[in-house]
Amino acid sequence: MEKKQFKAESKRLLELMVNSIYTHKEIFLRELISNASDALDKMYYKALTDPDITFNKDDYYIRIEADKDSRTLKVKDTGIGMTKKELENNLGTIAKSGSLEFKNAIEQKDEINIIGQFGVGFYSSFMVADKVTVISRAFGSGEAYKWESEGANGYAISPAEKAEMGTEVILKIKADTEDENYSDFLDEHRVRSLVKKYSDFIRYPIKMTVTKSRLKEGSDSEYETYREDEVLNSMVPIWRRNKGELKEEDYEKFYKEKHYGWDKPLKYIHINAEGTVSYRAILYIPSAAPFDYYTKDYQKGLELYSSGVLIMNKCADLLPDYFSFVQGLVDSENLSLNISREMLQHDRQLKFIAKRISGKVKGELLDMLKGEREKYEQFFKSFGRTLKYGVYSGYGINKEVLEDLLIFYSSREKKYVALEEYLSRMPEGQKYIYYVSGDDMDRMLKLPQAELVLDKGYEILLLTEEVDEFALRMMGSYKGKEFKSVSDSGDLGLDDKKEEKGEEGQNKELYSAIKEILKDKVKDVKPSKKLKTHPVCLSSEGLLSIEMEKFMRHMPGAQNLKAEKILEINEGHPVSGALKEAFEKDKEKFNLYVNLLYGQALIIEGLLPEDPVEFANGVCRLMN
Ligand code: ADP
Repeated sequence: MEKKQFKAESKRLLELMVNSIYTHKEIFLRELISNASDALDKMYYKALTDPDITFNKDDYYIRIEADKDSRTLKVKDTGIGMTKKELENNLGTIAKSGSLEFKNAIEQKDEINIIGQFGVGFYSSFMVADKVTVISRAFGSGEAYKWESEGANGYAISPAEKAEMGTEVILKIKADTEDENYSDFLDEHRVRSLVKKYSDFIRYPIKMTVTKSRLKEGSDSEYETYREDEVLNSMVPIWRRNKGELKEEDYEKFYKEKHYGWDKPLKYIHINAEGTVSYRAILYIPSAAPFDYYTKDYQKGLELYSSGVLIMNKCADLLPDYFSFVQGLVDSENLSLNISREMLQHDRQLKFIAKRISGKVKGELLDMLKGEREKYEQFFKSFGRTLKYGVYSGYGINKEVLEDLLIFYSSREKKYVALEEYLSRMPEGQKYIYYVSGDDMDRMLKLPQAELVLDKGYEILLLTEEVDEFALRMMGSYKGKEFKSVSDSGDLGLDDKKEEKGEEGQNKELYSAIKEILKDKVKDVKPSKKLKTHPVCLSSEGLLSIEMEKFMRHMPGAQNLKAEKILEINEGHPVSGALKEAFEKDKEKFNLYVNLLYGQALIIEGLLPEDPVEFANGVCRLMN
């Protein structure tokens, strides 16, 4: 028999599994049952929708056999099975191997992260077995094949005998060690309790022949044992149960079993709606973003069932992009089994359900924001970006839905604030909602242009993510209050003496001389209305701020977009006097001063002077 090698990553993962010290090895059973259930789902759906297949509900089940003598544990299913090629492709490589995070975790042999964050499906068998054999016969095929492996050294595939369609996974359970009692997994009671614990809601019967005892006939004290088939799981899917019977724990277990995520969900939502369109749904708001969430590989969507039969794994039409983090399922008797993907998009019932779900998710998030602040902040750290992109995309069409869900860091104690809270604590006379963007909160607060605003006792939103400013600019205002960047070249509404003073008139010549030196580097030079103790700052005009310019520069295919920069000079600062004096008496010195002040303004904004060496030399010249 020819032995084949695993792909490099699979091999590393298997080594890790074989030598695993992971404490919850028992999850291997959940993984095998969940694979079996998926295979049954596929077959069940096929049988229901294909008139050529005779359908008998009793044909769909999972069977577990534990044999202490041969130390084998079998998990059999009557699902769709695998062809030779599928055995090779599905079991010889790992599905997640494309993702960089996964690769890194494997390379670093980061066991906890791999099992905790990615799950390892079928391969987790190697945590408890020396040898794994899979015998499978695919639907529509007369041939069966056997896949065998003893771990990282490779696997072999050969023809096999199998009467019925489906898959049989046979584990040769490891010998007990000092630390681990593997024999436990061959114990019927243990297996039964593991099924109850992890797989109770599987919709197909999980059968096992178990040993029971009863009083011997005609005796009132002597017992005899006998063997009997038992269905281990309750089989009622969780979404068909009454909310009252279910505990938080049940929802959490279901979340894990379904691989919706490996974290502890922040919130679950159980909907049971009756009406023109009846449906049940279980939705989850995860606490952590899945490893591929912010990549293009991520697919949003909910599982879609029609009267308990799975018709689609990821129905994207059920979720708007801005709620793409929601996990879960929808089951409705109003949807046809045979509906195609294309038709679904236009299905009125589906649209109705999607709308209701969005409304419900928004409601839950708002409640969380009001009642469970810490949880909400955790949610926002994971998924706030998605909401903000939601505000920004589609030219702000979702502003109304999302604006109340946004929170931003604020100059008040650098804590999160919601826009409504910001408005409610605004002092009288404040005209705008102020913001500043950058990547370091302390530095943002020290920006010269923030000083006067803060002095007035006004709160400033600290925008730390690139998307923030794009989103706020797209929104324009919140409940009638305009957003205003403290770096805006226009009026900041500070209603200060300074604001009246800002007259260019008497120094017109000076300002045009400065502009002359700086040329196109700035759009304009003007006396500042917003500076207090600092001599200069840069502000910007138009669509692009300086922070946005910085961000756009790193975008793929960046065109060299520039913000329209205004150099503002504080006429109340001594430096302004020195500048004026140089302008009148010493052109060379004037030139030096202008360039240094401009360079300084750039540095404050986190930008480099165009010629850093020249700037440094200028400082030296000044010292001499
Ligand atoms: P995942 O279930 O996350 O895709 P696994 O490693 O558990 O990853 O399984 C890999 C693939 O092998 C599955 O996606 C499925 O196509 C196939 N597979 C596993 N177990 C079975 C089974 N019992 N019947 C049919 N196909 C299976």
